[in-house]
Amino acid sequence: MILQVQKILNSKYIDIDEEIDKIPLPEGMKTVGIINFRARISHGENYEIHMIGHLKAKVCIKCVVCLEDFEEDLDIDFNETYVPNNNDSPPGVERPIEELDIFIYKDGYLDTDEIARDMLLGNISPYPTCTRCVST
Ligand SMILES: [Zn+2]
Repeated sequence: MILQVQKILNSKYIDIDEEIDKIPLPEGMKTVGIINFRARISHGENYEIHMIGHLKAKVCIKCVVCLEDFEEDLDIDFNETYVPNNNDSPPGVERPIEELDIFIYKDGYLDTDEIARDMLLGNISPYPTCTRCVST
């Protein structure tokens, strides 16, 4: 889903409850079934966008021990802030240095598919291990 930032800025907040069919993931990983993305999206004084919500998905990943594919449920609570890239900033707004590692949005929109993808990748273990291999 593409969210127009202008629409968010014009509202007090927007609630979304979206079902995403499929999210493209790197080789060896895939989403299984519907991904549920729920969020309340609001904004701050300087075009920053706050997104608080929950992402629920099932992924199929490869176990690093036995190399078998297995499924893992991911329940991710998130509370993120997005700021515009410099082109979108209102003139004269200086952003404090500590904001540099928060998320940037470009071209006046946010794409929930991309956001969900980043969150999934950020929450999948770098060394995924299936339950069978964990217990032995
Ligand atoms: Zn395994």
